[in-house]
Amino acid sequence: MEKLREKMVTEQIESRGVTDQRVLSAMRKVERHAFVPDQYRSEAYADHPLPIGHGQTISQPYIVALMTELCELQGDEKVLEIGTGSGYQAAVLALTAKEVYSIEIVESLGKRAREKLSGAGYDNVFVKIGDGYLGWPEKAPFDVIILTASPPQIPQLLIDQLKEGGILVAPEGEYIQQLVRLEKRNGIIHRRNITYVRFVPMIRGR
Ligand code: SAH
Repeated sequence: MEKLREKMVTEQIESRGVTDQRVLSAMRKVERHAFVPDQYRSEAYADHPLPIGHGQTISQPYIVALMTELCELQGDEKVLEIGTGSGYQAAVLALTAKEVYSIEIVESLGKRAREKLSGAGYDNVFVKIGDGYLGWPEKAPFDVIILTASPPQIPQLLIDQLKEGGILVAPEGEYIQQLVRLEKRNGIIHRRNITYVRFVPMIRGR
């Protein structure tokens, strides 16, 4: 598995231009095969997304690396993730930032991810079952916010929970989705479109 993981990093991630050493080192460390359902273990290091149940998917490794790189983490940040899913992205963030707060709307996915993360020793990740559209006001503001499900538009409530100087990385849109990076500087949001992506839609809670 370690060899396959190394191959994933060099052939899928470095070769496509990810250079952030913190990100590359985390991608080399996190045991992706531990986060995918048992029947997909042999494909854990392949260049595509994988089903994780409930119609949801764990993103392609390159997209996880690209999004993490766009967060520009130095290691001392408090991060909010929307869409815990398998917990894999949260594990990558756990190794690149200080604290990770992750929200999952599907209870069984959230609970499973929580168990996997604590079982693997990622004790700086906190998983909450809830609606990501609301963010996590008790823990706000965040240095970085990352969405791994696509809302039609970036929710203002989440932008409000971003610190001054903070970065938000997310897919945005319904049929056509753009990966966007927002930066809050002097209260003004600077937006950069990165590339087209395909994520599962962000579900509206009740
Ligand atoms: N980051 C995940 C990939 C998640 S797929 C990983 O590394 O595996 C997107 C996830 O977002 C799904 O698990 C889905 O249930 C969740 N989701 C969708 N809408 C949501 C919402 N409003 N709030 C929180 N989670 C949501």
